[in-house]
Amino acid sequence: MTGSWLLLYCRAGFEKECAADILEQTGRLDIHGYVRTREGSGYVQYFPQSEVWDRRRDTLRFGDLIFARQLIHVLAELDVLSPEDRLTPLMSAIRATKRRYSDLLLETADTNEAKSLSPLLRAFAVPLRRALESESLIGHDRSPRLHVFFPSGTAALVGLSEPDNASPWPLGIPRLKFPRGAPSRSTLKLDEAFRVFVPDPERDLRPGMTAVDLGAAPGGWTWQLVQRHIRTIAVDNGALDPVLLDSGIVEHLRADGFRYRPAKPVDWLVCDMVEQPLRIAALIADWLVEGRCRRAIFNLKLPMKKRYQCVMDCHALMMERLKTARMSGRVAFRHLYHDRAEVTGYADCLPPKV
Ligand code: SAM
Repeated sequence: MTGSWLLLYCRAGFEKECAADILEQTGRLDIHGYVRTREGSGYVQYFPQSEVWDRRRDTLRFGDLIFARQLIHVLAELDVLSPEDRLTPLMSAIRATKRRYSDLLLETADTNEAKSLSPLLRAFAVPLRRALESESLIGHDRSPRLHVFFPSGTAALVGLSEPDNASPWPLGIPRLKFPRGAPSRSTLKLDEAFRVFVPDPERDLRPGMTAVDLGAAPGGWTWQLVQRHIRTIAVDNGALDPVLLDSGIVEHLRADGFRYRPAKPVDWLVCDMVEQPLRIAALIADWLVEGRCRRAIFNLKLPMKKRYQCVMDCHALMMERLKTARMSGRVAFRHLYHDRAEVTGYADCLPPKV
């Protein structure tokens, strides 16, 4: 993959945060490079310094990135594609990568502007797939996925993503259907967060587990817990959808989420209160170091300016609190597809070191 550079998808309007994120994460690995961004484009390009990159690129983990929806190693750039024949130059560029792939993903940015390219993509998908199949270039399990990204109708990028170091979803977008009966659209945030942060749901989201949901009303997050048969205390002064109370495993407490503490430790703390991010981060850290929960998923509503720095500050605060309490754990953030001007955090911790 000598000479490759990175293409990162993100939510339109968050290119600056995505750029700061990749520069920070690569900087930590002593990889140096520069970014190219265009506000509102829905993607960021990262160009690494090549010698170091060739040795260290595998150390960059998609799971450590916050604002990137997808991580693609670009192998070829086609700047001028003729609308009369896009297939021939694309096939030669793909052949020249000298690789075989598991699958093909034909993509554009997730923006209104790029949506105008959807008919082109639909029309082009079949001939390109056929051509790739006829040369046995796709269909190889456990190989990288081939991405062909159209920034416009006359340009394309050819790249790959490694299934174990990328989002599993096309464009990095989980297409989750709003579940019938869920009390709010927010429910999709927790559904996505579980898919992103919990590698073994059968083990970690088992029936009979316990949870507290801070800022629960009207109950979209509690609904996700109830679906998994997790006994939940829902804390909010607002009204909860009665269907949740009918489940028999939800207790509604009208209390202040910052003061409430459960009588016994719970498996999960989830929190979607609209508050200052640092205050939420401190609250979650309190629960972890006091041993009141083992795992937490929480949403941070971001200020308009310095969004990236704000997430970094919250991360630092939580890690510092765990360190002071001599606890080891993981604190991670992700700008989920269902998040807007907010990120979702995940934290877990192990018992104190002896
Ligand atoms: N997760 C919920 C869902 O899926 O339906 C939506 C939560 S809504 C974004 C935020 C909630 O936090 C509001 O219902 C509000 O009443 C609650 N809230 C804000 N501050 C709170 C506090 N200090 N204590 C308890 N609830 C609080």
